[in-house]
Amino acid sequence: MNVYAKIIVDVPTGGTDRPFDYYLPEELARAAERGMRVLVPFGQRKLTGFIVDIVSETSVEKVKNVSELLDIKPVLNEELLRLGAWLAKETICFQITALQAMIPAAMRTKAVKKLAVTSEREQLPMNVQALFGQAHELAWAKVPKDARILRDIRTAIAQRQVTERFEVKGQAAPKKVKAVMLLSREGNTPDTTKQQETLAYLAEHYGPSPVAVQTLMQQADVSRSVVHTLVKRGFLQETELVIDRNPYTAVEGDGSEEKATLTADQSHVLTQVEEKMAHSQATPMLLHGVTGSGKTEIYLQAIDQVIREGQEAIVLVPEISLTPQMVGRFKRRFGANVAVLHSALSVGERFDEWKKIQEQNVQVAVGARSAVFAPFTNLGLIVIDEEHESTYKQEEHPRYHAREVALWRSEYHSCPVLMGSATPSMESYARAAKGVYRLLSLPERINEKPLPAIEVADMRKEMREGNRSVFSTSLLDKLRDRIEKEEQAVLFLNRRGFSTFVMCRNCGYVGMCPHCEISLTYHRRDRQLKCHYCGHEEGVYERCPACESEHIRYFGTGTQRVEEELQQLLPEARIIRMDNDTTRQKGAHERLLKQFGRGEAEILLGTQMIAKGLDFPNITLAGVLAADTLLHLPDFRAQERTFQLLTQVSGRAGRDEKAGEVIIQSYTPEHYAIELARAHDYLSFFKKELGQRKQAGYPPYFYLTLITFAHPTFETAMKAGKHAAAVLRTRLGDDAIVLGPTPSPIARIKDRYRCQCMIKYKDEPALTDLLHDLFTYYQKELQQDQRFMTIDRNPSMF
Ligand code: ADP
Ligand code: ZN
Ligand code: ZN
Repeated sequence: MNVYAKIIVDVPTGGTDRPFDYYLPEELARAAERGMRVLVPFGQRKLTGFIVDIVSETSVEKVKNVSELLDIKPVLNEELLRLGAWLAKETICFQITALQAMIPAAMRTKAVKKLAVTSEREQLPMNVQALFGQAHELAWAKVPKDARILRDIRTAIAQRQVTERFEVKGQAAPKKVKAVMLLSREGNTPDTTKQQETLAYLAEHYGPSPVAVQTLMQQADVSRSVVHTLVKRGFLQETELVIDRNPYTAVEGDGSEEKATLTADQSHVLTQVEEKMAHSQATPMLLHGVTGSGKTEIYLQAIDQVIREGQEAIVLVPEISLTPQMVGRFKRRFGANVAVLHSALSVGERFDEWKKIQEQNVQVAVGARSAVFAPFTNLGLIVIDEEHESTYKQEEHPRYHAREVALWRSEYHSCPVLMGSATPSMESYARAAKGVYRLLSLPERINEKPLPAIEVADMRKEMREGNRSVFSTSLLDKLRDRIEKEEQAVLFLNRRGFSTFVMCRNCGYVGMCPHCEISLTYHRRDRQLKCHYCGHEEGVYERCPACESEHIRYFGTGTQRVEEELQQLLPEARIIRMDNDTTRQKGAHERLLKQFGRGEAEILLGTQMIAKGLDFPNITLAGVLAADTLLHLPDFRAQERTFQLLTQVSGRAGRDEKAGEVIIQSYTPEHYAIELARAHDYLSFFKKELGQRKQAGYPPYFYLTLITFAHPTFETAMKAGKHAAAVLRTRLGDDAIVLGPTPSPIARIKDRYRCQCMIKYKDEPALTDLLHDLFTYYQKELQQDQRFMTIDRNPSMF
């Protein structure tokens, strides 16, 4: 009987998005499984692909052979294959893009995969043993081409005798350290007691297995020279040991930390979560609790229960809050039972961590967005911390939101999803208010510690009184005071988004679109103010339309300039700056935070990367330099983001014994986002903002889809946009509102002009199919002409 594989091939472009049929030669057919990666001939090239099905018939006449299996066991299980198909459909992307998004980067290439022995090779079956060559040498072997021994290798992996590793050229070569192992010592005796003790220690603790020289020196308390002598005299054999490359392995934590005794509020919340877990209910739960109210403690205790049930848990955290501090908390509680997935890890490190999950060596995965694809097979809980964070949305294909993927997986596994936040997203809180999500809350901080007092500095007033600096008088006074008291302060400057808005520094007036409730963006090229949603334009003004003042400014100030100014104003201050420039190097982020933690500076100045996760007892002041830059981004979520950010920054101050203070500098202090953040009043903000959203037709009342066109000439990009808008209007009729085309907020990227259409709709009529039609049409017909189209459902504008 013939066996064929249906394979999704990694073809980067092209109009077709379907599996291709290939013949599986007999020795491959025996080992092939759905979800494995393969190498196949495609045109003149050999490309990688995924087996999505294995069948006994094909209608293709001249079917080619699969060249090679790249995996020993499938990298995508049945669940992930299904999830991939769903992802491609929902986010409108190629299937190959969706499948590749679910595996570590190392596996998206033809990178050489190797096998390493982890225990005594004498126990391995002969054919597997043969792969590794001579005994007494920790060897590496390439994955064999002959698939016949794959089953034996799989067994060896299952018994943890062999492990898979990736050797990625140029980076992240597996880390090997010098090691020694015991040799037979017949006919010889060591010189000194120290040498005897060392050998006895090895025999007792390691037997014939290798141990890293460093480890041995520490554990047996011997010097390097003793070890050397033993090697020279033939008692020990030098060898190498492959070690984990994860930088978080250095994060201490042995799983011995005791649980806290929960408060009454916490117990109430935990009981509800555990009840859903016990009944295997795929209930989404939203935990609304101020910073410091004990949400993380609840995650930890719920996960503890998951582990005891023999199940697994995924914990999603925003990229930037995945600090060693945060990881440390999980390691102290669960020790080596935790894998950490983070984009700051090298390709090889990520692979090692992912492997722990795939080989079922751990039950907990903590990671950023893509950790939602962790290949667990028996999930008991998915936690999403800071669920409102925009980093949960991927801004490249597949443009998925981790929350939606988590909800899909929770249905598949019949397990609850627990989403926590001090400032839930409008969408989630609206769903909770309607009863679609179960609402849980922790209204108070642990130990009734008060929330910090927030003062809003009116920068219009400062300017009128002659203060032209970026710093209000009040903030400067308080900074001086902190330096004197040897306490610390964090200063936050938002540098998000690329567009500039125009504001009157005298009265705080900002130009808004009369149709969209969106601030207008200044375009230098034609000196126009434009709305990026509907295309409305007006000329720039020389005088403020509200107060006639000439103090009109474009906003956007760099962190470096602010640092210089601050240093001039406070010559005695020691300042650490954290932004994209100072944290480009690997590990720089942690290093700077450590320096600050050790008290090597009084002031930490930075961009959004310092807004969360910071937990230093000596911080008693937090300042937001220009709250308005975020408030006036041309984004319907600008108010929501501002409220969230101000709340988060406030959470940085006064976490310990000393009380905290917060200063927010603003040109529009009366704005509800600023006023309600000052009052720590999430519910009022939610209600007010919900009203605005309803009026202007934004989520959660309307869904949005953004379609962007790009081309080297502006006219062609706009022409494609007009064509698509016309097709959409005809086919959607009254079901949806189609806006645009209009230039994108970033009007040109990499020499391509960009324009966009926005679709607003209440429910999803025929939209998914229509978008797929458009996608296919543009990929096929227009890409030859360097046109590009991307579709983003539920876009996060910045
Ligand atoms: P959140 O995640 O809401 O910010 P955390 O779980 O981090 O809150 O709790 C804030 C602080 O209070 C942490 O230092 C934590 O260890 C401590 N904590 C949490 N729950 C309790 C409890 N029940 N008893 C004592 N301390 C607690
Ligand atoms: Zn004005
Ligand atoms: Zn508009």
